[in-house]
Amino acid sequence: MSFKPANDIQDHHHFGEFGGVNPSISDSATYTFLSAKKMFDTFEGKAEGCYLYSRHSSPSTLYLGEAISAMEGSEAAHVTASGMGAITPVMLQLCGAGDHMVSSRTIYGGTYAFLKNFAPRLNVNTTFVDITNLEKVEAAITEKTKMIFCEVVSNPLLEIADIRGLANIAKKHNLKLVIDNTFSPLSVSPLKLGADIVIHSLTKFINGTNDTVGGVICSTQEFIDQLRSVNDGACMLFGATMDSLRASSILKNLRTLHLRVKQHSYNANYLAEKFEKDGLRTVYPGLKSHPSYELYKTILNEEFGFGGMLTIDVGCLDKANALMEKMQHEKLGYLAVSLGFYKTLFSAPGTSTSSEIPEDEQKKMGLSDGIIRFSIGLDNDIERTYNKMKQCMLELDILEPEMA
Ligand code: PLP
Repeated sequence: MSFKPANDIQDHHHFGEFGGVNPSISDSATYTFLSAKKMFDTFEGKAEGCYLYSRHSSPSTLYLGEAISAMEGSEAAHVTASGMGAITPVMLQLCGAGDHMVSSRTIYGGTYAFLKNFAPRLNVNTTFVDITNLEKVEAAITEKTKMIFCEVVSNPLLEIADIRGLANIAKKHNLKLVIDNTFSPLSVSPLKLGADIVIHSLTKFINGTNDTVGGVICSTQEFIDQLRSVNDGACMLFGATMDSLRASSILKNLRTLHLRVKQHSYNANYLAEKFEKDGLRTVYPGLKSHPSYELYKTILNEEFGFGGMLTIDVGCLDKANALMEKMQHEKLGYLAVSLGFYKTLFSAPGTSTSSEIPEDEQKKMGLSDGIIRFSIGLDNDIERTYNKMKQCMLELDILEPEMA
C-alpha cells in the first residue's frame, strides 16, 4: 500500500505566532471581531480563518484535527473531549428515532452500554453480530439500518474486522461504515480500505501519556460540517469539546507516535511468541495461530507491526488477579484499565472494561474470566521484562517449571 500515514503527519507544518516551532495555543473561549458583519459571517461558517467561540473550534483543536486527518487520509477531522465524546455524536448524527445499526458484539464496554442501554431510549436499536462473519453482518441489515459499527481490532478479544468486506456490504446497502481505530493507529488506515468514518479515543496510543482523555472523528468535510452545525450538529450541541491546552499537548505527543507504535508492536510480538511457546493460551494478531493473522496482514501498514495489545488466559479470575497484583508489585506495569501507555497496563476485562456486557453475553463471545488484557509498554529490554513475568507466573503456579 502506498499510503504513508507517518510521513503525512510529519508534513503537517505550522509556525507559532512568534516563530515558535510549536503552533501557538489560543487561550480564549471567545473571539473578537472588528466588524459585526464578520461576526455574522463566522457564525454562518462563511469566514475562513476566523474563530467565534471555542466550543465550535479553536486554532489548537483545528491543528490537532488537521494532523490526525493527515494520518487517516481524511478530508477533515473533528477533535472531541473523549473517545465516547466522538462515538456517541457520530451514532446519533447518523441515526434518529426508528433507525437501526449493526454492531460488532465485541467492542469497548462503554460503546456497548451506549448501544444496548441508552440508544434504545431514543428508539435507536442495534443488532450485535460476530463481525468476522460477513454473512451474519449482511443478514442483520434491515431497511431501517443506517450504519455498521466495529473496531478494527476488537476490545478485548482482538478479533480483526475485514474492513474491505464490510465496506462492500455497506456500499451495497447504502450504509455508513464507522470504524473505531483506537487499537491500531498508523497500523491500519480504514478510510483507505473503504470505511466512511474513523474514530479514535486519543486517550490511548495517540496521546500515549495517560494524562488526558480525548477523541477524534475523521471523515469527509461534509460529514464533519454536519457534526459542527450550530443548528443540528451532534458535536456542536452535545458539547464534548476538547480544551486548547490539551489539544496542543496531544499534537506534540502525536509527533512520536510512529516510534512508539513500532516499539509497542515489537515488544508485544516478542512477549506473545514467548507466552505461546510456554503453553499459555495467548491471543495476539501477529501470531500465526490467530484466526485472522492472514487477513490482518492484508490490511496492515506493515512497518508499524501488529500492535501493542495481547491477551492471555490463565484459567480463572483468582489467578488473573493474583498475577496482575504480583506483576504490579514487581514494577512490570500497572493494574489499570486503558491502553497505549509507555508502561505496560493490565486488567481482567470481564470485571473491568467489559463489565457492562452481561455475563451470559461474555460467555457467548468467548470472554472468559481468566483473560488478562495487556497493553504492552515501551520497555527497552523486553527480554528482561519477559523473564520477570515468567518468574511471577512460576511462583503462582500459572506456569509449571517444565512448561517454562
Ligand atoms: N474505543 C475503544 C476501543 C476504547 O478502548 C475506549 C476506551 O477504553 C473508547 C473507545 C472510549 O474512549 P474514552 O475513554 O476516551 O472516552
